[in-house]
Amino acid sequence: QNRVQILGVPFSTLTFEETLHKLEQDLRGTTPRHIITANPEIVMLAREDAAFMALLQDVELITPDGIGAVWASKYYGHALHDRVTGVELSTALIEHCAENGHGVFLLGASPQSNALAVQNLRHRYPNLRIDGRDGYFKETDLPEIKAAVRGFQPSLLLVGLGVPRQELFISKHKSELNVPVSIGVGGCIDIFAG
Ligand code: UDP
Repeated sequence: QNRVQILGVPFSTLTFEETLHKLEQDLRGTTPRHIITANPEIVMLAREDAAFMALLQDVELITPDGIGAVWASKYYGHALHDRVTGVELSTALIEHCAENGHGVFLLGASPQSNALAVQNLRHRYPNLRIDGRDGYFKETDLPEIKAAVRGFQPSLLLVGLGVPRQELFISKHKSELNVPVSIGVGGCIDIFAG
């Protein structure tokens, strides 16, 4: 329910406010949830890659990041109301985390960009518990990365490793990492770096 299939991708029909409200509840939960803000790149990749399409069917929430999906949904009889972009959604959730004592972990982008993003967000939200780690790690660094995330016990994990690496990462590791809300955010960490 609350979904419409567009080119095989199950998009959430929740508005931005409804999505935010739902995820604010989920941040307090114990079930790890995977969120995708899907742009056309993701939809096209899923059309070409059956394994990626299968992964998308198991994701808890896929929001329309672009206006294209919102328009396309009209042809399917169920209008998607709103775009829910990665930047807007993650900004609103970070603010909520700052106000409610939830930890935030940024995984991705270059070491410089990651450190700047953490620094900027700390400056903007002095009460925010936040840490991060760059996204240029090797397979052999994975145990250390996972230990860093688990040790920090964030409620929100923003993963910016590019599509589809960030989706594969969340899907593969989410039960082990046990973070209530994980979102693939593409280049958003670079945007927070300013
Ligand atoms: N990135 C990363 N590790 C990699 C490759 C990319 O952390 O091995 C980061 C990159 O620095 C950038 C983000 O992933 O911050 C991807 O940004 P882009 O806008 O290309 O992603 P898209 O949203 O188009 O997938």
